[in-house]
Amino acid sequence: MNIILLGPPGAGKGTQASRLEDERGMVQLSTGDMLRAAVKAGTPVGLKAKAVMEAGELVSDEIVSGIIGERLDELGDETGAIFDGYPRTAPQAASLDTILAERGRTLDHVIELVVDEDALVERITGRFTCASCGEGYHDKFKLPAVAETCDQCGAHEFKRRPDDNEETVRTRMTEYRAKTAPILPIYEARGLVKRVDGMADIAHVTDAIEAILDGRG
Ligand SMILES: [Zn+2]
Repeated sequence: MNIILLGPPGAGKGTQASRLEDERGMVQLSTGDMLRAAVKAGTPVGLKAKAVMEAGELVSDEIVSGIIGERLDELGDETGAIFDGYPRTAPQAASLDTILAERGRTLDHVIELVVDEDALVERITGRFTCASCGEGYHDKFKLPAVAETCDQCGAHEFKRRPDDNEETVRTRMTEYRAKTAPILPIYEARGLVKRVDGMADIAHVTDAIEAILDGRG
């Protein structure tokens, strides 16, 4: 089973990918992570990538393909792959087909976690945490029982992440749409795209993804 998992920041993609890793033994292949790991491990493609990056140049599609191939070879045939952040362009999508075909693999599903942008803004901008114990709260969905007092530890200091603001969330959504626009139509045409409501609670999203993987969704 090989899938591409798509979703904007805040859709819960990381959470869902790690659940698939835990429950199905799949492995998430994030190109950024793989690139860093290959460079660190000094693999043949990693050495090439290192030279390119040290020269201040962008890593080519060829190098990225090489790194994905190396990683898939390490996984073994029985381990499913979750592609994250790749492919981003039509040529990369074609490369992925080749990389998979060379290893007797096929792409089974492209699963997109769909979010409602306004609801996502509300979800992200409302969140804050206890500065002392890290307990999570939300302006609308989960306020402390006693105003400005942490339910868990009684502290009175709270903090918000500076990038949890509306402008950042909307910019990320725009970037996400721009990044996926070149590849979604390719996979739509092949009938591979399945959409899951990313605004549902985490367990429901997992169930919906599992249903797709089991051929029930
Ligand atoms: Zn606390």
